[in-house]
Amino acid sequence: MSSLFESLKDSLRGSVLKNESMAAHTSWRVGGPADLFILPADRDDVLTALRLLQEAHCPWLAIGSGSNLLVRDGGIRGAVLNLANLRQLQFQANGRVVAEAGLPVTHLIRLCVEKGLKGMEAMAGIPGSLGGAVAMNAGAGGQEMAGVVTEVVLATPEGEVSRTATDLSFAYRRCELPPQSLLVEATLSLTVAEPVELQVIYRERLAHRRQAHAVGGANAGSVFKNPTGRQAWRLIDEAGLRGASQGGAKVSERHTNFIVNTGTAKAKDILGLIEQVRERVRACQGVNLEPEVKIIGSDELPARDEWI
Ligand SMILES: Cc1cc2nc3c(=O)[nH]c(=O)nc-3n(C[C@H](O)[C@H](O)[C@H](O)COP(=O)(O)OP(=O)(O)OC[C@H]3O[C@@H](n4cnc5c(N)ncnc54)[C@H](O)[C@@H]3O)c2cc1C
Repeated sequence: MSSLFESLKDSLRGSVLKNESMAAHTSWRVGGPADLFILPADRDDVLTALRLLQEAHCPWLAIGSGSNLLVRDGGIRGAVLNLANLRQLQFQANGRVVAEAGLPVTHLIRLCVEKGLKGMEAMAGIPGSLGGAVAMNAGAGGQEMAGVVTEVVLATPEGEVSRTATDLSFAYRRCELPPQSLLVEATLSLTVAEPVELQVIYRERLAHRRQAHAVGGANAGSVFKNPTGRQAWRLIDEAGLRGASQGGAKVSERHTNFIVNTGTAKAKDILGLIEQVRERVRACQGVNLEPEVKIIGSDELPARDEWI
């Protein structure tokens, strides 16, 4: 009987890897191996993969560029789908843009600004894919994905389904995707504007980001959400944690809501430092900081290899 790995390899035009280190697919450069790592060639491949994974009762999750992910050192049991090959993009009439989930958001925003489409220019420089940006309701400079997404297409083991933005219940750095679904396409509604005006905001935001985010090491952007009416970086700073470290992980001296991998960090160092920050801020300011980064995977390496 062929393994799930072999069935996927035989059925997909994209690539399928086993025991793929997640450190290679996350901006923090940490994380153990995923049992299976699937790069579908296109949307048909996504549906085929989901069907086979469902038949094998294999758990799965979608990732984008891994710029908001902390994968534990034991890695991920089951399959990871990376949609980087899904990059189709269509500019339609009246500021309507239809884009696939693997498209890098920086690329999308640059093109929108060039075409005089307003609504995302202040988000210039946010790393990651469109799928990740919608899933996280990414935002910056007073704009967020919830303000521009009108509709999405989700892939499920049964086929593709459309949902409106209202169905996704967007909130601060989150939205609700139905279980057993991943996002393959989003429709955005932007406002027609003067490209020159948008260029000014776009360049300012990029320059600000280059300066504020130059933390000198692998990171995943802001680690904690801002509690209502407060700024996480300030709470961390006031708790005396600037430069605090654990193993190879360090609270950035430049931006205290960033944790930097100084080169040798393991996920357990970053997790330990996250806990240290939360405890100290709770003790000093009575505020419960909630991680913005998604923490996934297991601590221990697997004792079984049922998928591969
Ligand atoms: C230097 C730096 C600066 C940053 N600045 C900002 C900022 O200003 N504002 C901000 O909001 N974020 C910021 N981030 C965080 C991050 O870039 C965003 O959250 C980004 O949108 C994540 O996209 P991604 O493709 O990397 O997603 P991933 O990190 O790969 O995934 C994030 C989540 O989305 C889910 N997901 C990804 N793709 C799909 C899909 N196709 N279908 C369903 N679920 C999916 C994953 O399962 C996971 O739960 C920053 C990160 C870094 C490293």
